[in-house]
Amino acid sequence: MRYLGIALTVCMMILSVSAVRAAAALPQGSWVLRVEQGGAWADIPDAVMDLAGQPFVSVRGLAQGIGASLSWIEVTKEAVFTSERTVAMLRAGDRQAYVNGSAVTLSASPDAESGRLAIAAPDIRALGLAVEIDGQTRVIKVSRPRSRIKRASVSADHGVVSVLIEGDTPFRYSDFVLCTPDRVVIDIYDAVLEPSVLTVDVADSVVKRVRAAMNRPGVVRVVVDLASALGYTVEYTAGAPARLAIEFHTRITHFALDSAAPLPRLLVATAGRSAFSAPQVDAEGIMLMDFPSAQVCLDQAELVPEGGPVKWARITALEGGGARLRVKLEEGYSAIVRDRLCDDNGVVIDFALTVCSVRSYEGPGCTVVHITTSGPVGFRPFRLNEPDRLAVDLPGVWAASSSLVEVHSRSVTQVRLAQFAEGTARAVLDLGEAWAHSWDVSPDGKGIMLTVASSPVFGRTVVIDPGHGGTDPGAVKDGVYEKDINLDIASRLRQLLEMSGARVVMTRNDDCSVQLSDRSRMANEAAPDAIISIHCNSTTWDIFPSGTESYYFNTVPYSQELAALVHTCVVRELQLMDRKVRRGDYHMVRETSAPAVLVEVGFMSNGVDLQKLRDPEFRQKAATGMFKGLSMYLGSDMFRKWRVESTGTSGDWRQVGGNSSSRQGSGGR
Ligand SMILES: [Zn+2]
Repeated sequence: MRYLGIALTVCMMILSVSAVRAAAALPQGSWVLRVEQGGAWADIPDAVMDLAGQPFVSVRGLAQGIGASLSWIEVTKEAVFTSERTVAMLRAGDRQAYVNGSAVTLSASPDAESGRLAIAAPDIRALGLAVEIDGQTRVIKVSRPRSRIKRASVSADHGVVSVLIEGDTPFRYSDFVLCTPDRVVIDIYDAVLEPSVLTVDVADSVVKRVRAAMNRPGVVRVVVDLASALGYTVEYTAGAPARLAIEFHTRITHFALDSAAPLPRLLVATAGRSAFSAPQVDAEGIMLMDFPSAQVCLDQAELVPEGGPVKWARITALEGGGARLRVKLEEGYSAIVRDRLCDDNGVVIDFALTVCSVRSYEGPGCTVVHITTSGPVGFRPFRLNEPDRLAVDLPGVWAASSSLVEVHSRSVTQVRLAQFAEGTARAVLDLGEAWAHSWDVSPDGKGIMLTVASSPVFGRTVVIDPGHGGTDPGAVKDGVYEKDINLDIASRLRQLLEMSGARVVMTRNDDCSVQLSDRSRMANEAAPDAIISIHCNSTTWDIFPSGTESYYFNTVPYSQELAALVHTCVVRELQLMDRKVRRGDYHMVRETSAPAVLVEVGFMSNGVDLQKLRDPEFRQKAATGMFKGLSMYLGSDMFRKWRVESTGTSGDWRQVGGNSSSRQGSGGR
């Protein structure tokens, strides 16, 4: 108790001495510490003392006034002053202070004689504060240093619109959102705007305008007017200059499949213009498309349509920002990024098959154009007139660019491929000497094979019956056997027909005996389009008869017409006497189920005719005449009528797939 009493006495003595000293040192009245608090000035009482004519400011009073903190480290006897951007360590009697880790020499040593740590008024600057000392009014004004906001700019990059605010020194800020209209407000503290008002008008669908003005002393308010509510991020970088970057992100707001579009279509709508990557396909065959700046704001982020090439589609947020569209497609389908939506906010993605290749090759009597596609396609080939063209529409196929394939065959000059309508590609074959066409699906189901015939015999079945054979030599004259002449002409005719794409059935291929009933059975089993029986004439009673004659029986309609055409052509080729077309009751024209003709090429009993029949060139001419006659008949309306009457289908090419049509008129020859 005794010691305590002494201690109290000593303390009271110190206090009274200090009071006397302070009163004596300020004859012109007290100094006033005036600090800025949230844009207004406030006087802090009893915070300044005069030491040897110099105003010293209580560090605690200053810290309280300016909103900093002060703590005491007993071990080192140091006071630590901490504000947002300054950590200063001060020690009584030591001019060396440490500010933000660096040694700073003060104008005077901090003083603690009064029991409170005080620093010379000019040393307040070392604490990162602005100070004005007015000796006249004895006012010390302390404020936080103000960052001068000189610039606000707006930039857009890949759909991210950035507002950049720069101050020459670090500043504090806060941000908040206001609605109706949508805007983002950023208050920047300890700042001054130079010039006093700043406006940046932006021609952008995301940000309309940036306005900045002094809201109150020390506070610059930046308002970003938005076209619509958007997400944003704020990034502050301290330094000189200090930067505040506000990035506005587009948002994915709508995600749907449009089943009414010409091609299967996916719509991704965004608030604000969004960048997106080109579609890519990952190892699992899933199409990926990134929206690097977009935020996902969807009620439903997954679509699982029933049917169609889109199995499922999902939009997910990416780690670190952005969104990813993933679409599982049926094999063969590709994504086609269309124009953006009409207001530019979003993207339209169509899904289509593509044309892989267009090739052509020559076959007997025809040109085949093979168009391969990335998946199965429904086809609709059709002829176009003047000039003669064969077109095929490929629904669901997208031809990225128009292309042309030169063919230069007899029946096809070139193939042009282009997008005919939004949902349909069209291939057009420019035709030359084209008779008929047929089509079939590619062997793998992906594409179409178009066959364009250059001859009317293409795809037709013709039965050739070389008369006699084997033990039946037919007429024999001067060591020449009719059976051999007949087979030779038949073989030549067969070659001509097959070179033009006809299917030929021979009743005999070599020197063998074949009964007439077997011949007609073979012919009828072949379901032919025409039958031609080849013979040579002979008489035993006269050597003078000469020339060509042909027979029909008319069991089948148009047999007479077939006989007339073949006979006329043979006579024209051979230039032998025209012995006319006659009705004859012969087995091969009577017992057959298709139009049939029997040609007696010439008279072996006539020396001149026989001489000619022995000549291979003459026999070739005979075959050529028969071929021409058959071609004329098979390209005629009569033949088409017969086909309709006998098979119920017009001009089907029975040997060329199930889809075909022949044609006459301007395009046919
Ligand atoms: Zn004969």
